[in-house]
Amino acid sequence: MNGARKVHIKSFGCQMNVYDAFRMADTLAPEGFAETATPEDADLVILNTCHIREKATDKVYSELGYLRLLKQAAAAEGRRFTVAVAGCVAQAEGKEIIRRAKTVDLVVGPQSYHRLPDLITRAERGERVIDTEFPLEAKFDALKAPSRDATRKRGVSAFVTVQEGCDKFCTFCVVPYTRGVEVSRPVEKIVAEVARLADAGVREVTLIGQNVNAYHGDGADGRAWTLGMLLHRIAEVPGIARLRYTTSHPCDMDESLIAAHRDLPALMPLLHLPVQSGSDRILAAMNRRHTRADYLAVIARARAARPDIAFTSDFIVGFPGETEADFGATLELADAVGYSSAYTFKFSARPGTPAADMPDQVAEDVKSERLQRLQQAIDRQYAKFRAQCVGRTFDVLFERNGRYPGQLAGRSPYLLPVQVMAPSSLIGDVAPVTITEMSANSLFGVLAKDGADCQVAGLAEAGALD
Ligand code: SAM
Ligand code: SF4
Repeated sequence: MNGARKVHIKSFGCQMNVYDAFRMADTLAPEGFAETATPEDADLVILNTCHIREKATDKVYSELGYLRLLKQAAAAEGRRFTVAVAGCVAQAEGKEIIRRAKTVDLVVGPQSYHRLPDLITRAERGERVIDTEFPLEAKFDALKAPSRDATRKRGVSAFVTVQEGCDKFCTFCVVPYTRGVEVSRPVEKIVAEVARLADAGVREVTLIGQNVNAYHGDGADGRAWTLGMLLHRIAEVPGIARLRYTTSHPCDMDESLIAAHRDLPALMPLLHLPVQSGSDRILAAMNRRHTRADYLAVIARARAARPDIAFTSDFIVGFPGETEADFGATLELADAVGYSSAYTFKFSARPGTPAADMPDQVAEDVKSERLQRLQQAIDRQYAKFRAQCVGRTFDVLFERNGRYPGQLAGRSPYLLPVQVMAPSSLIGDVAPVTITEMSANSLFGVLAKDGADCQVAGLAEAGALD
């Protein structure tokens, strides 16, 4: 493949897909593909799909309807327009997509992205290609690293995949089927990737994986390292000011990870810890492998290690067999923890998962009503959390110019967006900011006079996390 052509990659779903989209773009760049933000002027469009809930899958087919029109227009102009479907829908429904959507030239599963250049060449020759194998070769080794330029354009905060796949088999979830078994990348490969990012100006790294705290990658010492050990090692990379990780399973919050929260100032005091339900009966039916008490014990251990830590979570309402009493237990648990925010979902029956065939499926209107009640409870917690930020001083990582001249946009340790009047030379710096007011979506603040004012621990003292 040669010449300057354009690729548009549209991602749906989780951070894993955001990271994968960058790596696909990096792998196609040496083949002459420049990225474009719109499908209309692209030669190749890749839909990087999500299969986690029915709605996410439906979006792919509606998007393909629009791409069919673009393909017809390109054909009328004598231009080639190649359409690829990647991600978890590709993995789960490969043959079905090729059958249903004639527009699609290529279906590629998440484990085959390193083979994209070859697959695209075949598709451009007129073959309708499906590659949804779980190949034995190491995908991460074969994917191309981003150029310094590409990294700079992507900003000061980056994702790094450290682990992929899942062996937990929660009864509602497609991930073990679409992403395969748990695989962890070796420690030194991850450290080298982080060092490259830091060298190009990245200051914050979020380690990602479907089950990131089940990380058990090979260390240079021949041992399997835990996520806690990995975080300690990455904190030593010069230039890296902030660390985060997501998504974690409550059963894998081991002592080394709790200790990392206690010992590493660079590890931000925010833990995304999905609980799904507050009812032991439902947790067992979900095969979550922990009870409500186990979950609350993890929260208590994390708080003891890092008193200013805040929590976010994922909840599913209307799992098969969920009664009003089970749902009440979920509301009580949310209240007991006091989240800074959370994602709430209606149970979506996914073909092939055990929960899809369970008896006592909950009626749609009941699910909607419970979702609304839980969302209202979470919204109240979010509003309280944000309100308690006003008047406090936090370290803010400045990410980019703000919406108005002279304004910078950054993030607090708790990931809340913060707008500050400050010179753009501060982009990439971490500086203390006193929060003066808030709007529906942002906090506003002023640069604090010196770092000594910084009191990230203030939230816990103020009872924001009660
Ligand atoms: N590994 C994470 C964990 O153990 O919680 C979750 C990963 S999953 C990609 C993200 C979230 O999607 C889950 O936490 C769950 O709340 C939600 N989810 C997964 N399958 C679902 C389904 N069938 N219906 C509704 N929500 C679902
Ligand atoms: Fe899905 Fe997370 Fe359960 Fe794995 S642990 S099966 S990714 S919900």
